[in-house]
Amino acid sequence: MKDRSLLMIPGPIEFAPEVLRAMGMATTSHVAPNFIEVFATALDRLREVFLAPNGQPFVVAGSGTLAMDMAAANLVEPGDKALVVNTGVFGDRFGEILERYGAQVTHARAPRPGSVPEPGDVEAMLEDGHFRVMTVTQVDTSTGVAADVKGLAAMGREHDVLVVVDGVCSVAGEELRQDAWGVDLALTASQKAIGVPPGLALLVAGPRAMEAFHSRSAPVVNYYADWSQWLPIMEAYEAREPSYFGTPPVNLIWALNTSLGLILGEGLEARFERHRQVSRAVKAAVAALGMTQVPVSGKIAANTLTAPRFPDGVDGSLLAHVKRAGVILAGGLHPEIKAEYFRIGHMGVVSGADVLATVGALEQGLAGVGYEFQPGAGLTAAQEVFCEA
Ligand SMILES: *Cc1c(COP(=O)(O)O)cnc(C)c1O
Repeated sequence: MKDRSLLMIPGPIEFAPEVLRAMGMATTSHVAPNFIEVFATALDRLREVFLAPNGQPFVVAGSGTLAMDMAAANLVEPGDKALVVNTGVFGDRFGEILERYGAQVTHARAPRPGSVPEPGDVEAMLEDGHFRVMTVTQVDTSTGVAADVKGLAAMGREHDVLVVVDGVCSVAGEELRQDAWGVDLALTASQKAIGVPPGLALLVAGPRAMEAFHSRSAPVVNYYADWSQWLPIMEAYEAREPSYFGTPPVNLIWALNTSLGLILGEGLEARFERHRQVSRAVKAAVAALGMTQVPVSGKIAANTLTAPRFPDGVDGSLLAHVKRAGVILAGGLHPEIKAEYFRIGHMGVVSGADVLATVGALEQGLAGVGYEFQPGAGLTAAQEVFCEA
């Protein structure tokens, strides 16, 4: 059999053939006129995808963690107070990064994995805290929980904090309206819903974030992450002028431009809706197969991934069975519940057909580990979602 497993994890994801072809193109110079044009187009398309018409995009070689690092390095000065709205592992990570740059970090923690902090508690912390920055993980990939970015950003703005959104598992999949919602900086990585192989850190900084950066009193202590290095480069590309600080990953940026073109061609509203529908189908299937999920309610469950809990008598060996049926799923990530659940990523170019293949493989895997259920129950539930449309 041809090796063509379906990669249904929360990043890296399946990529469009056009995007992969762009990765295989003959690499040009980073100052070749045709590459400068592609880079410039990609930067402008990022503003459209982030819905941040006045934002300053940054495209830098690295992963999502570098994007987080860059946000903290440029926006925080030693002694600043930072509030982390923490819904899982990536909130912990943001807290550590902020501390590394000298911030005094307070966490507004979800009471348990799968929940969100009470909005009233966040509000009270903002009231008392005199924070400079608040971070929110839009979708925490370790729990499958989606935070209310719109509500939290409004709260943050009211208390005059810089609102930073870790959108690594959400941008271009989950609804995020950076400008309209008052998000000062949003960031992601190429390999998730943006749909480009791993290797790019992507940030869009709004006017308030750039202003905060320009009025820093202390220099940025990280040489590579310093926007003083990167801002002139981004501006030069948009002005169609050659420039150099660190060699850009030419093929990845070519692929990014291709993927952003596909995303805008689909249309953001249609894309958000497709992610909602796919998510409903996967979650209906999981429920029909007798599994609960890590998010404690459907209202706070992400549309880019699903985090089912293993049913009684089933453990992580399920995933090997599912893989044999042709679909790769991810194990648990949150340390407190790691062995109790698994994760199904469904973002980017994911289709209804991919969902049916995934649920079919999941059923075969469940049968393989001796779980008792009605074969086809998950498929029927997913199919009902697609057929009601
Ligand atoms: C994947 C992820 C990250 C980290 O991105 P890397 O590219 O693995 O460094 C950060 N935050 C969230 C929400 C993620 O899903």
